[in-house]
Amino acid sequence: MMRVIRTILGDISPEELGAFNYHEHAFQRTPLLLNEDLDDYEKSLQEFTDLKNSGFNGYLESTPIGLGRNPELVAQLAKDTNLKIVHTTGFHKLAHYSNQPELMELDLNQKIDLIVSEINQGFHSSTHKAGVVKVGIGESELSEFEKTSLKAAAYANLETDVAIMVHLDKKSDAHVVLDFFESQGVNLARVLLAHADSKTEIKELKSLLKRGAYLGLDRAARLNEIQEIENLKLFAELVNVGFSKQLLFGGDLARRSRYLSYGGRPGLKFLGEKFIPKMISVTSESVLEQMLKKNPINWLAFTPREIHV
Ligand SMILES: [Zn+2]
Repeated sequence: MMRVIRTILGDISPEELGAFNYHEHAFQRTPLLLNEDLDDYEKSLQEFTDLKNSGFNGYLESTPIGLGRNPELVAQLAKDTNLKIVHTTGFHKLAHYSNQPELMELDLNQKIDLIVSEINQGFHSSTHKAGVVKVGIGESELSEFEKTSLKAAAYANLETDVAIMVHLDKKSDAHVVLDFFESQGVNLARVLLAHADSKTEIKELKSLLKRGAYLGLDRAARLNEIQEIENLKLFAELVNVGFSKQLLFGGDLARRSRYLSYGGRPGLKFLGEKFIPKMISVTSESVLEQMLKKNPINWLAFTPREIHV
C-alpha cells in the first residue's frame, strides 16, 4: 500500500502536498477566547485565499472536537481555495470544555470510538475524514480528561497510523507527554509538539528534539517585535545544531482580532509575505523547503490500514 496524506477532500499522494502551514483555524469557538469566534464562511474564505496567495498550498485545520469546528465548511473551503486541507480530530485541554459537560464526561472508549471513526469513516454523517489526531494539555498536572484523551490519541495512532499533534501551554511539561506516548508504543517520530516556540529555553527544546518528536513553531504572527527577533534567533539556532528535519511552521492566528477579514491584523498573509523571507535570511531556501514541504510529508503521511467493520 502507498503512503497517503488524508485531506478533507480525500487521500492524496505526498508529492501533491506542497508548502504546508501546520497550524491554522478556519472555524473556532471556545470559552477561553471571548469575542474571538471564527464562524463566518465568507470571512474565512477571504483569509484563506490570502493564505494561498501568500505561497502556501495547504494547511492543517487544527480545531478539534467541541471547539466550534465545521468540517463541512472546511471541505467547502478546500474546494473554493484549492488548498490541501487536513482536518484534525481529537480533544483539546479540559479548560476548553467547561460549558460542555456532555463532552467532559466522555470515557476512554467513547473517545476512542469517536476519534477512530472520524479517521476511518468520516466526520458525523459525511465522507470527509480526519487526517491527524490532536490532544491538548494544560500547565498543571494532567486531568483525568486529558489522560483519557492522550490514551485515545495513542490508541488511534496505533490503530490507524495517523500522526499526533499535541497542544502545549507555555509551561506544559512535554517530556511527560512523550514518556506517556512511548509507554503506549507510539513512535515519537509521529508526534508533533505544537507551540514549541512559546518555550524559550533552547536546552529544553533540544532535549525534546533528541527524542525524535517534531516541534511546531507558530508564535511569529503575534506582532511583537521582541518576540519576532527571539523567534528568528531560536529558529536559526535549532537549524544550526542540526534539527531542521524536525521543525514545522505555522501561524495559529486563531482569533478574530488577528484576521484582516474580521477587522484585525496581521492576517493569514503575514507569514508568507513578511515572516518567511526573514526566516530565509537567517538560514537558507533549502532549509525552508525542508520545513515547509518535506517535514510535513514525513510527519503526516501514513499507510491506511485495512478496516475491519
Ligand atoms: Zn491553534
